[in-house]
Amino acid sequence: MTNTLFDALMARHAGDDRPALILPGGATLDHDGLYRLSGRLANLLTASGVGPGDRVAVQVAKSPEALALYLATLRAGAVFLPLNPAYTAAELAYFIADAAPALLVCDPAIVAQRADFAPDALRLLTLDAAGQGSLTEAAIRHPETQAPVPRAGHQLAAILYTSGTTGRPKGAMLSHDNLLSNARVLADAWRFSCDDVLLHALPIFHTHGLFVACNLSLLSGGAMIWLPRFDADEVLRLLPQATVMMGVPTFYTRLLDRPGLDREATARMRLFISGSAPLLAETHRAFEARTGHVILERYGMTETNMTTSNPYDGPRRAGTVGRPLPGVSLRIVDAAGADVERGQIGMIRVRGANVFKGYWQMPDKTAEDLDAEGWFTTGDLGMQDAEGHVTIVGRSKDLVISGGLNIYPKEVEEAIDALQEVLESAVIGVPHPDLGEATVAVLVPAPGTAPDPQEILAALSDRLARFKLPRRVILADELPRNAMGKVQKAALRQRHEGLFA
Ligand code: ATP
Ligand code: MG
Repeated sequence: MTNTLFDALMARHAGDDRPALILPGGATLDHDGLYRLSGRLANLLTASGVGPGDRVAVQVAKSPEALALYLATLRAGAVFLPLNPAYTAAELAYFIADAAPALLVCDPAIVAQRADFAPDALRLLTLDAAGQGSLTEAAIRHPETQAPVPRAGHQLAAILYTSGTTGRPKGAMLSHDNLLSNARVLADAWRFSCDDVLLHALPIFHTHGLFVACNLSLLSGGAMIWLPRFDADEVLRLLPQATVMMGVPTFYTRLLDRPGLDREATARMRLFISGSAPLLAETHRAFEARTGHVILERYGMTETNMTTSNPYDGPRRAGTVGRPLPGVSLRIVDAAGADVERGQIGMIRVRGANVFKGYWQMPDKTAEDLDAEGWFTTGDLGMQDAEGHVTIVGRSKDLVISGGLNIYPKEVEEAIDALQEVLESAVIGVPHPDLGEATVAVLVPAPGTAPDPQEILAALSDRLARFKLPRRVILADELPRNAMGKVQKAALRQRHEGLFA
């Protein structure tokens, strides 16, 4: 009997002395070393009372040991549950109560503060950013050899919480098959091989950095340049050693701010990938002009892994997220659930081996979003052209209905962003006594400009129908974003909800 995901990612690399991780200082950890470390840690987990199917909650900084702990959890037959290190003790307490893990691994600093975030019965081990803590101290006493605990494809490998952009994060239950099938499809679509060196500057508590990036690189037997966080100068220094980078759109805008980003710096690269938030067509074009590389944009979410991708060969279209990946079915439906005509906007639904098993402890929400035939309602609005290319129009929760008319914030944002004095913008709907909802545009001026809201509105009136014009234009220094570069519209709505009261 096999351990579906662990065997594919790691077991076949036993004895492989090529680097799996390259650290910024140049030190490396080879595949065999990572395999052996995961064995020690898996033995420690089992000795700590973690049984098959138990959750292992992990709130730690990114380190090689943190990656080994993910692999060890799979190896021990348990369910990996990573949490954003930015969560406070009170937030952590919510996740612990929700997920009821058998073990929590967290930073020693959190234990030192030791609020009442964890029930007394919960086992605790620590791991800091340098890979030190009671976890690694205890692991030394355990042998490297360990027979992976058998896990079938339908059994859970991870519970990954969504980013919480539209509400409280939901725990998505992901099986071994969900993760492995998607890694295989992506490795093929993006031509990954053991010769690839992936520049990894993403966090590993999210689907992008953990599953898309790590699973793909491990499955292919390549190496990852393992950076603790994104730093544009550090990335530019290391790009000549890499072949692929995965990033959120803010990585690309920050790189474009650096004069050192040019053809020479990216000469060895074969692929730049973007996802997790919309990549502006302008960023796409600016990056191509500076480097000659056309960024490949793809679309996915915690619940479904990756669902669409621009092509490796063939044109990568700015502003679109490409076609459904092999094995993924995608529909665009109206409010009644019927397919809309090609080119029309509707709700995106997807089905395939990549789609999760449901939300942890939320049977009602699961029943609402995932139907008996396996179709998942994503919450994203989009359209598909005659050749199948998908364009994301926004989230259904961000759609504004003003005076009975639909306003898609993205359309208004694009018109605003096209103005010279604007760097970027976010359009939200807030309560309005007459209209139900009215739109507010929050915009960040381009450097060195001080646009006048009235002039902005006047400029927009040429481009947008009257009902789409924002009722209020507000200037801001920056837009609130989370670690994945997603604009926090819920926070903006809350901030401005009293504007028309
Ligand atoms: P929550 O579900 O808790 O509100 P979230 O949806 O932001 O949070 P994630 O699963 O991390 O949590 O993000 C998935 C979402 O990110 C998608 O539903 C989509 O809205 C957005 N997204 C991902 N890739 C792209 C992309 N290439 N273009 C536009 N949006 C994208
Ligand atoms: Mg979501």
